[in-house]
Amino acid sequence: MTNQFESAFDIAQKIKESSITAKEVLFGYLENIRSKNGDLNAFITQNDDIAISQADAIDQKIKSGKEVGILAGVPIAIKDNICTNNFETTCSSNILKGWNPPYDATVIKNLTAEDAIILGKTNLDEFAMGSSTEHSAFGPTKNPIDTTRVPGGSSGGSACAVKAEMASVALGSDTGGSIRQPAAFCGIVGMKPTYGLVSRYGLIAFASSLDQIGPFGKSVRDCALVLNAISGHDPRDSTSLNIDKDDFVSHVDRDIKGLKIGLISEFNEFLDDRLKASLTDAADLLRENGAEILEISLPYVKYSLSTYYLIAPAEASSNLARFDGVRYGLRVDGDNVDEMMINTRTKGFGQEVKRRIMLGTYALSSGYYDAYYGTAQKLRTALISDFKNAYRNVDVIICPTTPTGAFKFGSKLDDPLQMYMSDIFTIPSNLAGHPAISIPFGLDNDSMPLGIQILADGLCDSKVIRVASALETLRDQVSPKN
Ligand code: GLN
Repeated sequence: MTNQFESAFDIAQKIKESSITAKEVLFGYLENIRSKNGDLNAFITQNDDIAISQADAIDQKIKSGKEVGILAGVPIAIKDNICTNNFETTCSSNILKGWNPPYDATVIKNLTAEDAIILGKTNLDEFAMGSSTEHSAFGPTKNPIDTTRVPGGSSGGSACAVKAEMASVALGSDTGGSIRQPAAFCGIVGMKPTYGLVSRYGLIAFASSLDQIGPFGKSVRDCALVLNAISGHDPRDSTSLNIDKDDFVSHVDRDIKGLKIGLISEFNEFLDDRLKASLTDAADLLRENGAEILEISLPYVKYSLSTYYLIAPAEASSNLARFDGVRYGLRVDGDNVDEMMINTRTKGFGQEVKRRIMLGTYALSSGYYDAYYGTAQKLRTALISDFKNAYRNVDVIICPTTPTGAFKFGSKLDDPLQMYMSDIFTIPSNLAGHPAISIPFGLDNDSMPLGIQILADGLCDSKVIRVASALETLRDQVSPKN
């Protein structure tokens, strides 16, 4: 009997060759969802009947000799801030519970055009604001490796689903680290593509100049395969880039000879012994296999977190103004329109979302705009020019994904700043709009997985995939269990 829980790449291959049916594969995953989701809470909406009819249609196509797509029969989980016509889309917020979008996001259309099977919608921190999936109106998701710990966030449901074999691959969104951080916490691969490479039409906006959709998978190859399906120009998204489509899978399993790889000296002060060990091991492996390792400096990187926490809430406060009790989801009545809006937003939004709206409104208020938002924009430009200078000397940069492994539930809930610190290594790529991937590499003192990130200049997604794939292979040669 074929093992159904192998890579998405192999699943699609075997289904195409008829050595297994899409339905058999799907039933394996549905069984896992049935047995594990009650405890882990990765999926918040699901519809087996739709998934089964999708699988039937693919099996039928294959039987009648028709062409099938590159994700034929691959069961995929979707973060619940991506609009789906067949499933309600809530952003894990009370304000949107019960809202059924009248359309599919472009990425959903792309996935189904390639014959992927949509399993359902996954849990997240409300409106993607958070790093632990504890800020969800549906309750927290658990880390499948140790259920007393968070899976990371905000795309914690998607990362958990892939790790626990409730989905083969998944989509998340990454505004400041929300794909890479949960990927690192759950010991899987997660990638944030270049800003504009993947359409965001149908992604419910958090911070529009930072948001990006990307894949989760058990391997770099699976992420590259999903990226092949979801990337490409979309006239419905004004930030979508109109460029030639790359075949990202073709950059897997290449060598890294002669590539120059940078280490950011400003990050050294944040590295404890375990992080240092994982970064040094990764650098050594890459060097032994033909890469050159160089120290680089990004003087403005130390302002990234502060910059992000001005820009992201500012954009969020504006984007979330649309949830007013008139157009979408929840309405709590009042004596007049103003009261109705206040009641709706008071009841509908959770504490963290309200905190971001207040931070953002303050940063944008007249008299403070230049001092806060204006300064943040200047710092963002300075960081981008730091990266430009660095990429004159190196092809890619490597650094840890997170300052710690997965933490215990409740340990950072009372201290938002501690929670925000989870993203110090991931946020710079969002501010710059650059691609970055996290792969599992090393363990923390509690034996929880750590991640290594590979960053590159804008539109160098293939380089990120090439180096990540090489490092993944080298890691497995040294310690096959990682
Ligand atoms: N944790 C960060 C935040 O809370 C990033 C979230 C994200 O990438 N969506 O804003």
